[in-house]
Formats: sequence, C-alpha cells, structure tokens
Amino acid sequence: MQNTTIKKSLFLNGSWQETNEYYELTSPYSEELIGYIPLASEDEVEQAIMAADNASSQIKKLTALERANILEKVSSLFEKHAEEAALILAKECAKPLKAARGEVGRTIETYKFAAEEAKRIHGETIPMDAAKSGRGRFGYTVREPVGVVAAITPFNFPFNLVAHKLGPAIAAGNPVVLKPAKQTPLSALFTAELFQKAGLPNGGLNVVTGKGSEIGDLLVKNDKVKYITFTGSYEVGLSIREKAELKKVTLELGSNSAVIIDSTEDIVGAAKRCVEGAFAYSGQVCISVQRIYVNEVLYEDFIESFVNETKRLVLGDPHSEETDLSSLIHPNETVRIENWLEEAVQSGASIVEGGKRSGNMFMPTVLTETGQNSLVNCKEAFAPIVTITKYKELDEAISLVNDSEYGLQAGIYTESVNKAFEVAEKFEVGGVMVNDVPTFRVDQMPYGGVKNSGTGREGIKYSIEEMTEMKLITFKL
Ligand code: NAD
Repeated sequence: MQNTTIKKSLFLNGSWQETNEYYELTSPYSEELIGYIPLASEDEVEQAIMAADNASSQIKKLTALERANILEKVSSLFEKHAEEAALILAKECAKPLKAARGEVGRTIETYKFAAEEAKRIHGETIPMDAAKSGRGRFGYTVREPVGVVAAITPFNFPFNLVAHKLGPAIAAGNPVVLKPAKQTPLSALFTAELFQKAGLPNGGLNVVTGKGSEIGDLLVKNDKVKYITFTGSYEVGLSIREKAELKKVTLELGSNSAVIIDSTEDIVGAAKRCVEGAFAYSGQVCISVQRIYVNEVLYEDFIESFVNETKRLVLGDPHSEETDLSSLIHPNETVRIENWLEEAVQSGASIVEGGKRSGNMFMPTVLTETGQNSLVNCKEAFAPIVTITKYKELDEAISLVNDSEYGLQAGIYTESVNKAFEVAEKFEVGGVMVNDVPTFRVDQMPYGGVKNSGTGREGIKYSIEEMTEMKLITFKL
C-alpha cells in the first residue's frame, strides 16, 4: 500500500472547508496513520444545517428528471472509480478487496435504483364520495419532500449504507447533512466529491466528520432537521429516539440473526452459504448469521461441512486478493469478543473451530453447546463467531430463533413448502429468507427490523415513503 498521509476537509454548502481541529485516522489492519480528518465544531455543524435548509427550496424545485439524472450520474461515476472506491474500503475499514468490490457494485446499483424511483414518486386519488358527506368532492394526495435530512451512518458498509440515505433523500427532493462513522470518513467524503461532479446544487449535500455523540446531538436536536435516518447500534439508536422529540426517525439497528436448517438435500451447499453469511467481513454485518439451529438428523453432517468450509477462509491483509477476513474495526472489539468467548466456554460451550486472535484479526470461530443466555447467543456479536445448536422439533427451533431481543431477518432451509409458510408466519423479524441465510439482501427490497432491531424500512422505494410527507388536497365541486 502506498502510504501517503492525507488531510481532509469538511464539505459544506458545495465547498471544501478546513477546520481548527483534526483527528488521526489509522488503518485497523496495520495501525498506520492514514490521514487527518476534521473534527467539525458546533459552528460548522450549524453551517451544514443552514446550508441544507437554504438549499431546501432549490432541491425541492428540481424536476423528477433532473433529480434522476444527478443520481444516474453519481452511479456512473462510482462505476468509473470503482477500484479507487474499493481501495478506500480496504484502507479505512479493513474490508477485504473481494468484499469491498462487492459493496461498490451494490452502491452503483443502489444509486441506479434511486434514479429510477425518483421518477415514480406519486400520490393517489381518494374516493371521497364513498362517505355520505363526501358527495361532490374530489380528493387526491401528493408526496412532498420532508425537508432537511440528517443521515447518521455506521462503519461497516460506508458506501452502500450512505447510498441508502443519500439516494432516496435526493430522489425525493431533500437536502442532506451526512455524519459518517468516525472510522469511515474517507468513503463519505469521496461520495460528496462524486455528488459535486454530478451537479447537485450547493447545500444539497453537506458532510460533517468527527465525534458521533457531539455532532449527533447537534443534528438530532436542531429544529431545522426534519427527519433523521440512522443506521447503527441499538444503544445509539435509542438515545436518538429519546432526543428527537416529534421528528420523524428511522432506525436500522443490530441483530443476532438466526437460520434453521430443517431439511435440505444439499447439506454442503447450505453449510457453505452459512459460512459466507457468518464470516463475510468478519461478521461485522447487521444480518450476519450468528445462530444456527440444525435438525438433529442433519447435525453431524452439517457441522463437518461447516467446519471444512470455515477452514478454507484466508485471514490477512485487506489489500490482498486472497483475503477473506481481516482485522476487526478496532482492537477493543477483539478483546470484547475474546471475553465473550471465555464467558461461553465457562458456561459449557465447546470451541469446534477457531477461537484465537492474531493481532487485530479474530479467527472464524464455531461454537456448539452454548447456552441460549450466553452473550454469543443473546447479544449482537458483530464478530466472526457463530453458534450451532441441534433441535428435535421445528417448533422448538422457531421458539429459539424468536427468543431474542432483536428481529431483523431470519432464514430457514426446508424442502417442505408448508413448513416454509408456517415458519414465515411465526418468525418475529422484518424479513424471512426461505432456503437462504438471513444475510441475503438486494438493495431495492424492503429492509428493516422489529423489536430492538429498529423502526421503519429502507430499500429505496420504502425510504422515499419515509422521506416524504403525504399531503391531501380536496376540491368541493
Ligand atoms: P454506532 O452506533 O457506534 O455508530 C453509528 C453512527 O452513530 C456513527 O456515525 C457514530 O459516529 C454515530 N453516533 C455515535 N454516538 C452518537 C450519538 N450519541 N448520537 C448520534 N450519533 C452517534 O454503530 P457502528 O459501530 O458504526 O456500527 C455497528 C452497528 O450498526 C451494529 O449494531 C450493526 O448491527 C448496526 N448496523 C445496522 C444495519 C441495519 O441496516 N439494520 C446495517 C449496518 C449496521
């Protein structure tokens, strides 16, 4: 890796602005200094909100075609700079290049979906005369942009989860203040460069980098901010909800996602898919497979295939073409997961594979005989660790899946259509994957959770619904 230290600027009202204070951004893998990133001051956050608010009417007045063209241009600029973008991910969040390229590919698609949806925002006519007193009335709805959007994003998909905020916001005609995770500012600032090149009017996008709690509070409490879209941890999501008062809020939070392996003719294929679901980006994915419940008749075969497949994974430098798993985002995470593992083992769990660290990397780890109340089962691990548990009756497995404070997505492998329908109805989650892992996502589908996994839905069309206000107009004829 070429080690050139950089100094970045804030993106405010269409221009790049230096600040007084900076923080050091270091590589999670090599711990080398990457660059100096602005710590936005209170005044600069205020400037960002003002710039967005002032741009509101201009962004709102852009035609659907103009908004679509800007998003289409952003998508094609990502395509043009795809390798550069993938390298940013490898550098700032230790995402192995193979996965980084996958994320950039999805980002290209997400902005394309947003461009398409920009042209489909519409209301409906209301059958006013269905009520006695509605005779002689004509009614229709329109969807209006909500106003200034505050987007607060996590470290783990720094391009695509930003795209899930900016794409629908701009498609709906809203200006945005973006606060990326402290560990992943480069991707957000790179995105701003592409929006600038694509001709988004000044103030349409503003990026403030720095401390989450400080900037977050300023955004959440500001009256000019009309809608907050947050993706991140349960704890921060809850604190935002408590402070946001009557502002509209969407929260995309964590999970400890589960999959049931009830019946399949392709046990090797199912195990392979579960390994991908559990260990992609070292399990730092909100819909990572964390708990696997296996029918006792398949249990031994499944474990054997799962472990064989796990052993193939390559740990190493995120810039290497061979690497599957690299460092966790911060050394503290490696220590935390070691402690969780110890707690599980103390209460009777067996480590079937992995269980060790190498620097900031954690080996993909497979546990059996874990208690349902061990941290590795009941909390979000966000690390390369998976528990495998056998069951006798499907109902027992469904109860175990639902015995969670979270409810984002869940999966079941079954050859029985009846069981698939039954499980789909009984799972307490936002999305059910039949014959696949809960980690499956395409970017236009509705996506979000129940329980402590959040409120609201993303997926471009569904985000646009949340980022617009419905207005009713009636005529007395
Ligand atoms: P995090 O909650 O620590 O941070 C998320 C964002 O919130 C960052 O930008 C951070 O700077 C900011 N922030 C921190 N304190 C804040 C405060 N007091 N007020 C406002 N903003 C504040 O999460 P993370 O570690 O970056 O990401 C991991 C979490 O994100 C996991 O729990 C994961 O499950 C979740 N996640 C959920 C989804 C989803 O779609 N449901 C997707 C990806 C990640």
